[in-house]
Amino acid sequence: MHTPAGFVAGHVLPAVLPVHAHVFAFRGGKLAVAGTDAAPSIPTLAESTSAALCGPLFMLGTLDGVPCVAQTLRDDAPDPPGLHLTGLRALFFLLPQPLLATAARAFQIVEFDRTHRHCGRCGAPTRDKPDERAKQCSACGHVVFPRVSPAMMALVTRGREILLARAHRFPPGMFSALAGFVEPGETVEDCIVREVREEVGLEVGELAYFASQSWSFPHSLMIAFTAEYAGGEIRCDDAEIAEARWFAADAMPPLPPSVSIARRLIDETAARLRTA
Ligand SMILES: [Zn+2]
Repeated sequence: MHTPAGFVAGHVLPAVLPVHAHVFAFRGGKLAVAGTDAAPSIPTLAESTSAALCGPLFMLGTLDGVPCVAQTLRDDAPDPPGLHLTGLRALFFLLPQPLLATAARAFQIVEFDRTHRHCGRCGAPTRDKPDERAKQCSACGHVVFPRVSPAMMALVTRGREILLARAHRFPPGMFSALAGFVEPGETVEDCIVREVREEVGLEVGELAYFASQSWSFPHSLMIAFTAEYAGGEIRCDDAEIAEARWFAADAMPPLPPSVSIARRLIDETAARLRTA
């Protein structure tokens, strides 16, 4: 996901929300949508107000001038009339990208609200800070911000070959680039060198930034690089990696879906190597 061209972020709710504002209401990880399963739409405020919506509204910003707000549905509330709850992943090819990206942003905001209602330091209730996207403890003043967890992805190349791996959790037959979370004290570059070494036992160099992608499940920022093989033999970390192999750039195995940055990274690198 990336910020849509027409999106302007903001956290201050306008005094009056227009009835055509987009409302991104979640219960658990599921989004309340209008329309049908095959043609879902994001409800407007007019479509939402009759619903059993609860909890505060969080301003996300405007999309093409239309205010966008996020809201958490109470766990015990009935399904909002006229709306149905659906997982974000099921909406990938059904909602326009700008609305999908805004929904993913909304999910991270309501998750932050849901999981930071009490202070992690003293346990007292928190409240939303009026001047920024943060929560502050009502007793000790401790401030917390929405969590974003940086993760790196590395696609290792060797001549016209690409190293791809299968994690145990992947669908059968699917391969992808290596990935892992950045640890405290590491740069992204440190993380790539460590992850590749730990997961497949190889040394890499010549790291080159490719692109990044927000991934709201639940709060990752995936930062993708290519890296060149610099030594070693493949030796998989059995706890994480089921199999890792070199593939010729013109003979790729089944890959992750096209919405993922992994797929773009692999497709564009393979295309570059094929014509190199
Ligand atoms: Zn506190």
